[in-house]
Amino acid sequence: MQNEISFYKASNIQDLLYYLKTVNNLKIYGGGTSLYETNKEFTVEIENNSLFLSQCPECCFIDKKERYIDFGSGVSLTKILNLGINKIPSYFYKAIETVANPLVRNLATVTGNICSEKFYNTLYSPLLAVDAKLEIKDYSETKLVSLSKLEKLKPGQVISKIRLPIIDWDLEIFERLGPVNEIIDVSASYTFLAQSEKDILTDLRVAFCGKIKLRSTELENQLIGSRLPISKRAIENTLEFASDLYDKEVSYLEEQNEVIHPMLKSQFINLLKSSLEKLT
Ligand SMILES: Cc1cc2nc3c(=O)[nH]c(=O)nc-3n(C[C@H](O)[C@H](O)[C@H](O)COP(=O)(O)OP(=O)(O)OC[C@H]3O[C@@H](n4cnc5c(N)ncnc54)[C@H](O)[C@@H]3O)c2cc1C
Repeated sequence: MQNEISFYKASNIQDLLYYLKTVNNLKIYGGGTSLYETNKEFTVEIENNSLFLSQCPECCFIDKKERYIDFGSGVSLTKILNLGINKIPSYFYKAIETVANPLVRNLATVTGNICSEKFYNTLYSPLLAVDAKLEIKDYSETKLVSLSKLEKLKPGQVISKIRLPIIDWDLEIFERLGPVNEIIDVSASYTFLAQSEKDILTDLRVAFCGKIKLRSTELENQLIGSRLPISKRAIENTLEFASDLYDKEVSYLEEQNEVIHPMLKSQFINLLKSSLEKLT
């Protein structure tokens, strides 16, 4: 006999916490657009009760401060784009613009984008590059965790908001790879952010995400402190380091029976090369 499943809609934060505490097997959704991905048909994971956050006003806020901007987990990508490119970091705005199509973006959320179980979706690389913070709530506590340290959520936990740090970058590059309006094996996103002062590179972030997730502070630290423009020799060394790093990550994934399309490596290395050459 098929188990009964229920759909819940949190109309406020108390509702949300109550459901988290009392309902077993509760799966949280933002816009629920991931349910439409498999062959574009509506497919619910039948063993789960489902709770939607998009009707919970306390989850649908955008709060901008001097050093960061908070996005509630129910806020749609369209609502964020409606703020305008001058109100949020432009690499993040551009990344959101490339997600799906306007209809999907009316429902989809940032949290839902980074919580996919099978794939590091389009918004993962910009958020990983700046090490965005996630607010995780359960019935009794609330904590902030870095995206780079995020582990699988425990039953009864929900990501209630995402905090994007605001940093003044001198060079911001975001690129999406693969076809538009769908996520397939060769989809990936690339983020490169750099800051300099008096011709010295003072901060650098590089992230590449898709089936693979790549960010290395070791790689970034090798270049931070260099005089600009970066020498040809330093660029070659960095590309060699990045290539080894990529291969290590792929072998690790292959041991777990994942198949990573070989084209992605050359795309990543070419993007990194052209970004480093732009640093002047
Ligand atoms: C036609 C189409 C095109 C698409 N194109 C793209 C694309 O170009 N790029 C891309 O990245 N994605 C794409 N997607 C996938 C998806 O729409 C997006 O990734 C979207 O941002 C997911 O957001 P959501 O709020 O709808 O997620 P949901 O479907 O609500 O949730 C996705 C996952 O996150 C979990 N989750 C959601 N919110 C929370 C929370 N608050 N706490 C804990 N877990 C949570 C859910 O349990 C689920 O596992 C596409 C989908 C469709 C249907």
